[in-house]
Amino acid sequence: MPSIFRGLPTLKALSPQHNVKTFSTTATVHAHSSQITPRQLRSRFWIPQATIKQQNEGVPYGRQLLVRAGYFRQAYSGIFHMLPLGLRVQSKVEALVDKHMQSLGASKVSLSSISSQKLWDRTGRLNKGSEFFKFKDRRHADWLLAPTHEEEITALVQDLIHAPGHLPIRLYQVSRKYRDERRPRGGLLRGREFIMKDLYTFDSTEADAHATYADVRKAYSNLFDELKLPYIEARADSGNMGGDLSHEFHFPSNLGEDDIITCTNCDYAKNEEFVPSFKTVQQAVEADAQVTGDTTSHGPSNLVSQSFLSKDRKCFIKAYASTEAASSNTASINPFAVKECFDDQVEVDTGVEDPIALFNARIESGENQAQLKVYYVFDQLINNDVVQRQIHEDKKWLHENKLRAFAVKIADSSASQSILLKKRDGDPCPQCEIQKGGGKLKVTKAIEVGHTFHLGDRYSSKLDLLVPTAGQKNVDKKGAYVSMGCHGIGVSRLIAAVASALSDDRGLIWPRVVAPFEVLVVVNTKQKDMAETVEVGNQIYDDLAGHPGNPADVLIDDRGDVDYGWKLKDADLIGYPVVVVVGKRWMKRKFVEIQCRHLNVKENEVSLADAPGRVRQLLDRI
Ligand code: ATP
Ligand code: MG
Repeated sequence: MPSIFRGLPTLKALSPQHNVKTFSTTATVHAHSSQITPRQLRSRFWIPQATIKQQNEGVPYGRQLLVRAGYFRQAYSGIFHMLPLGLRVQSKVEALVDKHMQSLGASKVSLSSISSQKLWDRTGRLNKGSEFFKFKDRRHADWLLAPTHEEEITALVQDLIHAPGHLPIRLYQVSRKYRDERRPRGGLLRGREFIMKDLYTFDSTEADAHATYADVRKAYSNLFDELKLPYIEARADSGNMGGDLSHEFHFPSNLGEDDIITCTNCDYAKNEEFVPSFKTVQQAVEADAQVTGDTTSHGPSNLVSQSFLSKDRKCFIKAYASTEAASSNTASINPFAVKECFDDQVEVDTGVEDPIALFNARIESGENQAQLKVYYVFDQLINNDVVQRQIHEDKKWLHENKLRAFAVKIADSSASQSILLKKRDGDPCPQCEIQKGGGKLKVTKAIEVGHTFHLGDRYSSKLDLLVPTAGQKNVDKKGAYVSMGCHGIGVSRLIAAVASALSDDRGLIWPRVVAPFEVLVVVNTKQKDMAETVEVGNQIYDDLAGHPGNPADVLIDDRGDVDYGWKLKDADLIGYPVVVVVGKRWMKRKFVEIQCRHLNVKENEVSLADAPGRVRQLLDRI
């Protein structure tokens, strides 16, 4: 007998009742330890039944498959219940996160989900966001469900550090976040309640904080490498987080809401949202000024224009870009570049569908008419005559409505293409252009799964978190502000993103590290000599689960009342990385079958002695 069988239960351990519904003994003595661990049995693990009977509407993708296979259910729009399978995946993601956060020397905390609106008022974020779930308590105090925890953790640390030696600090948590998203979508991809890992770092100096930032990026790369899936790390915009340095980790996917621009030749990788800052010149213009000079060059055929509205609805923005140097005739304007033309006074809303209709309605309402403004934004390639001409076209409208008009011209760019245009496949890479490398850009739709931000003193300055000097307390307000970073990973989003990255028309496919179970042993229980197949299944289970250096997380499909073909379909839908079948081939020729859809492997004749080793080889590759 091969050594893998030493110390394992014998056939005698089976009792007759196992032939009825389920078959196996539930406990195994691991060959290499004296610990008795119950075997994980499909019959004892609740997965909602009959889900595979539902037929596809359209092409299945991760979300539908996750629901159909029984991982989660939607309770309300953007709000979900995790079922046992989904929770196992979530726990695996959390374990992966824990491993890499520990490699950074970060300690785990769990902050309250309830946060005071007063605190958020101090950082100025309360009025900026529209995604808060706000509520009052019985004393009419104002609270919110935390969408993120910069405010709370800064206040906590402010309260607890009293000496210079207390820094650096690295704290993280894996917790529920609440955002009343305008458009919840894609199931777990964009929820209103979701699980996030958030890490916060606190350093004494800016230089230390930058070193920490580099460590976090490295830890993120190590974490995402373990999923063995393609991902892109791109320079990102820091949005309303403040700070000046930020990167995002993305999975390429058509379901993604981000456009990531990479180069075929160099390491250029940027989110379309990230637009390096540039200078603009702003000038008030008279609506009825006379048009002078040549108005024929850069005529409308060389221009694209798009309108926007500010978030406060007081400013209408018309942006013009020259398409002369564009490689595509379907060029369009990048709203994030238009955003970059303004400071905090004008916040461009990139999500308005019909800005002119909304603005005209605002004019007609007569409300605060004197505050309404119109901005004409022109890229660096458009000459002044054209600027005048475009504004002149609106003369009557501006005049009649007493609108104040401003021309905003991009001043300093060495780029040969319009700075306002969206990048397209095949455009020259700006980084290569400088280095004469000649690379071309590629635009990829992608799902953002992680984000790193260097915050600097964005929060510490507002909440008085200072590096304590010896003998002084923070309240003395002396010394430098603590330099912070915050770093998120969307745990629930990651589950949905992995599911859609790897699934096929038969079901889900999980990388080993986040699979609900790594191996399923399917035993044919509908044959007369089933006691033997059951025993072989148990032996394979015990060898895999009890391996000292490379233990696997195994489940046995022990259901006696379920058809064998059904079990295999069920296995495909749920997406166990490796499936071992002890069935007809075992009875005829003493071989087991091993399947791994991820690697396109289907081996029909594997001996019992070879099977566990072969399974481990496959697991190590996925
Ligand atoms: P997005 O641009 O997609 O709204 P964000 O920039 O608002 O993301 P962060 O505040 O940086 O996101 O949050 C950290 C991580 O949390 C994100 O990288 C993402 O993976 C995840 N995340 C953010 N919002 C949601 C959501 N509504 N549902 C699920 N995951 C989310
Ligand atoms: Mg968001």
